[in-house]
Amino acid sequence: MGFLMNQERQRRTKPVPTRMCIVCREKNSKRALTRLVRTGQGVQVDPSGKLDGRGAYLCDRESCWDRALSGDLLNRALRVNLTAEDRERLKQAKPQP
Ligand SMILES: [Zn+2]
Repeated sequence: MGFLMNQERQRRTKPVPTRMCIVCREKNSKRALTRLVRTGQGVQVDPSGKLDGRGAYLCDRESCWDRALSGDLLNRALRVNLTAEDRERLKQAKPQP
């Protein structure tokens, strides 16, 4: 009985939240990825990771951002149609190499 409870506790003390880049599908720790979230004001970058709304994650590879912004991957992930304004805003947030 006590043994089982210890195991349970050990599992809980190591929370490593991982997320997947929607382009290359590589998993990484949540902090290494940038969260994009669908809001009432378009698609926004969410550095805090706490905004409400449907979110998608991108890793810091430039190629992933380029593909996400030029294709419809983000549209599908967030179930939106990115506006030109959204794309422009997200381009500004692209991690610089
Ligand atoms: Zn990626």
